[in-house]
Amino acid sequence: MTTPAPKVVVIGAGVIGLTTALAAAHAGHDVKVISAQRPEETVSAVAAAIWAPYHAEPAAWINPWAAATFDILARLADTTPEAGVQMREGIVVNREGSAPLAWPETVAGNRPALLSELPRGASSGTVCTVPIATMPTYLKWLQKECTALGVAWEWRTARSLVLEADPGAVIVLATGLQSLGLHPDDGMYPVRGQVAIIGNTKVDRWIIDDANPAGPSYIIPRTDEIICGGTAETGAASLAPDPETQKRILETTMDLSPGLSKGTFLGSRVGLRPGRHLIRLELRDENGIPVIHSYGHGGSGVTVSWGVANATLELINTASQHPSN
Ligand SMILES: Cc1cc2nc3c(=O)[nH]c(=O)nc-3n(C[C@H](O)[C@H](O)[C@H](O)COP(=O)(O)OP(=O)(O)OC[C@H]3O[C@@H](n4cnc5c(N)ncnc54)[C@H](O)[C@@H]3O)c2cc1C
Repeated sequence: MTTPAPKVVVIGAGVIGLTTALAAAHAGHDVKVISAQRPEETVSAVAAAIWAPYHAEPAAWINPWAAATFDILARLADTTPEAGVQMREGIVVNREGSAPLAWPETVAGNRPALLSELPRGASSGTVCTVPIATMPTYLKWLQKECTALGVAWEWRTARSLVLEADPGAVIVLATGLQSLGLHPDDGMYPVRGQVAIIGNTKVDRWIIDDANPAGPSYIIPRTDEIICGGTAETGAASLAPDPETQKRILETTMDLSPGLSKGTFLGSRVGLRPGRHLIRLELRDENGIPVIHSYGHGGSGVTVSWGVANATLELINTASQHPSN
């Protein structure tokens, strides 16, 4: 006799919760998602969202998870336009006196930027092609795929692991920065990110200029708008856009890519990245309930999402050996 696949209750409908729910449903699990916010209201909806490992540890986990996610997003870009993922060429800028980012060298086909490709003030750069997701479209697509595979939805706050523990089920906490009292983790902290949105102009290439003297800067063109950033303020938790920061972002990014000044400013958005010294992905017995903790993905949630979902599936299989199943 084969053991039936355990039921899976995912708490959270950001990119981590939705991707995990979809991977689990694909693997034949009976899946329910409980979320206080709709996908479009989550931090995930604010993400820029370029494939680029950033503000998350440990590298030993991030690198294989990011590589697995790259392959899946690249395939979606190729085969499934309705998912809202595109492969785009862009440039990671280096500045005199700062160590270059390591990840561009890992992207197949990367090359040194020509002098003529560098923005003013840059000492060198790497050109490469990576996936970018238009998050409102991508999150909607993930949700639709889940629904098609029978995933059930409950839009509410989960208050207690005991109350959510369906008999024989594994709980996945994909709760991002805050679990709203469900299972507090003192190691979590916000890394505030503010972006400005520009529409009605065409900028094809993305630019990441992390060591810009004016602050970490990026320009991420998506299907219908361009996301200009940004900030990474550890410990700051205000969700209100700061007008001074908005001015700085617009000036710096227009300097990097003058074509932006022909566009229309559509507004600013703020999100709190779920910071943690290390990403948490572990299966724990919480008073007799098998619980997989999956949060703290910092500035890399989109970048590692499919790797995390696949690693979570392995933990779900381990949990099926749990005495309560
Ligand atoms: C400005 C900005 C730019 C970014 N750019 C990028 C980028 O380019 N590339 C990249 O990879 N990443 C980027 N990120 C980071 C990325 O957004 C995060 O890592 C990712 O969104 C985390 O996803 P998550 O699903 O863990 O959390 P969230 O999206 O925050 O989702 C958490 C979910 O848990 C639910 N929840 C919590 N507690 C409960 C409860 N008790 N009951 C029910 N539901 C609950 C919430 O309602 C929500 O649905 C960026 C972030 C910001 C702010």
